[in-house]
Amino acid sequence: MLSGFTKCPGLFYATPAQDGILSRIRIPGGILNSKQCRAIAEIADLYGGGYVDVTNRANLQIREIHQGINTEVLKRLQELGLGSNNTAVDQIRNIMTSPTAGIDSQELVDTRPFVQAWDNYIKANSQLSALSAKFSVCFDGGGIVSVSDRVNDIVFAAVLVDGIVYFRLCISDGAKGKPAKDTKILLPLQKCLPVLAALADVYLAHIEPNSKPKLRLREVVNNLGCENYLQEVQQRLAFALSFLQQKEEFVERISNYHHIGIHPQRQPSLFYLGVVLPLGRIETMQILGLAELAEKYGSGTLRLTPWQNILLTDIPQQWVADVQSEIAALGLDCSVSNINSGLVACSGKRGCAASATDTKGDALVLAEYLKNRVSLDSPVNIHFSGCAKSCAQHSKSDITLLGVSVEDDNGTVEGYRVYVGVDDNDLQFGREYQFVTVANLPALIEQMLLVYKTQRLNHDETFREFANRYEITQLKQLCDRSRVLTNLP
Ligand code: SF4
Repeated sequence: MLSGFTKCPGLFYATPAQDGILSRIRIPGGILNSKQCRAIAEIADLYGGGYVDVTNRANLQIREIHQGINTEVLKRLQELGLGSNNTAVDQIRNIMTSPTAGIDSQELVDTRPFVQAWDNYIKANSQLSALSAKFSVCFDGGGIVSVSDRVNDIVFAAVLVDGIVYFRLCISDGAKGKPAKDTKILLPLQKCLPVLAALADVYLAHIEPNSKPKLRLREVVNNLGCENYLQEVQQRLAFALSFLQQKEEFVERISNYHHIGIHPQRQPSLFYLGVVLPLGRIETMQILGLAELAEKYGSGTLRLTPWQNILLTDIPQQWVADVQSEIAALGLDCSVSNINSGLVACSGKRGCAASATDTKGDALVLAEYLKNRVSLDSPVNIHFSGCAKSCAQHSKSDITLLGVSVEDDNGTVEGYRVYVGVDDNDLQFGREYQFVTVANLPALIEQMLLVYKTQRLNHDETFREFANRYEITQLKQLCDRSRVLTNLP
C-alpha cells in the first residue's frame, strides 16, 4: 500500500490531488531502461489514469490513482532499480543532469557517474532522510544541452581551466526561484562528492529535523552567511577548497531546447532523437511503443528531460528515418517546429486549488490553434502558471502567462497577465505586456509569434532576445500594425 502523504510525493510518499492520488517516481538523471518503462506503464494502466507525466525534474508521475498500489508491485519496481530500498530518502528531489550526459558531442565530462555516486550516497546514509524534500542537486557537464540555469540548491557546472576540467560550485542563496550563485570554488572532479556530503552535513547541523516545513538550503545559507556556511563545509573536509583567483564571472548557459529533433552523438554514427511530449504527458501505449523502439534500434535506454520531453538514444544512423516514422505512428514527433516542444504548464485548476485558470487546458487549446497558423523553426518557451508560485518552471521563459481572474460587468473573467523577455529589475516573470482573456489569448500569441518571425535579426535570435530589444510600447505597436495587415481579431 502507499505508505503515507507528504507535500512532496515520492514513490512511497504519494500525495492527494483533485483527480486522485499522485505518485512520483524518482529517476536519477532521468535515465531509465525499457524494462523500467514497461513496469511503470503497467502501474499507470492498472492503478492510474493510463498515462504518465514527465516532470520538470525529469521524474515520472502517475496520476489519478484511486486505490493503494500492491506492495508486491512496489517491490518489483525496486528490483528493477526504481525507488530506493531505503524508502525514507525516496522523497528527496530527483538528481538533475543533462539528458545528453555521455552522448553530448561537446560535453567536458560525462556526469552520469556523479549522479550515480550521489544517489548511492543518499541511499546508504539514512541520516540524509532529514534533508528537505526540496534539497536539489544538479551536475552540468558543459555540453550543448545545458541544465546549469535550472533552479537547484546546488549546481556543479563543468568548466575548462588551463586545459583541465573542473566543477564550479554554485549554491542557492538568493530569492526563491533564482538559480544557484557561483561561489568561485573550483573543484577537481573527484572532490565533488566529499564536498556535496559536507554541504548536506552542514545543512543538517542547522535545521530542526522534525520541523515542518523544513528550511530550504538557501534559507540556511542566508541565515549563516555564505562565507560562514562554506567555512563549516571546509572544516569537514580533508583538503583545502580552492577559490578561483581570476575575476571572470561564471557565465550561466541558457538552455534552449537543443535536445528536440535528431542529433549526432559523440559516439560515431549514433544519433539521439528528442521526442516532443505535449505538456510532458505520454499515454501508456506510447511509452510502451518508445520502449520497444529503444530495444529494437538502440541500447534500450530512454532519457527524460527537465523540459518534460523524452530522448531515444544510441540509434545507428541507418535506422534514424525508420525510428522517426515509427515515432510518428505512435502519434508523437521530433519536430522543433512543434509548438508543444516549448510549451510548459503547471497543474492548473484541475490539479491545484491555488490556480486561477485551467493552465493545461488553455495551453492545449493554444497549441491546437497555433498548429497550422504559425510555423516555428526553433522552439519558443511559453510558460503557463496558475499562480505566482510558478511551480512548473522557475527559470525565465520567452513568454510567461500568469493566470488571474478579474471582475468585470459580466462577472468573473479568467485570463492571463502576459510577460515577455527579461526584466532589467530581474522580476520573476519578465516584462509585463498586457492582460488578455482566455478567449483572446490564442490570437494574441499568434500575433506576437508572427511579428517575432518577421522582425528578428536572424534565425538565431530567440524570442526573448527579440523582445528585449524593444520597449513594451514599441512591441505593441509592431503587433497592432501586423494585426491590421493580417486581419487578425
Ligand atoms: S504554480 Fe500555483 S497554481 Fe500552479 S501548481 Fe503551483 S501552486 Fe498550483
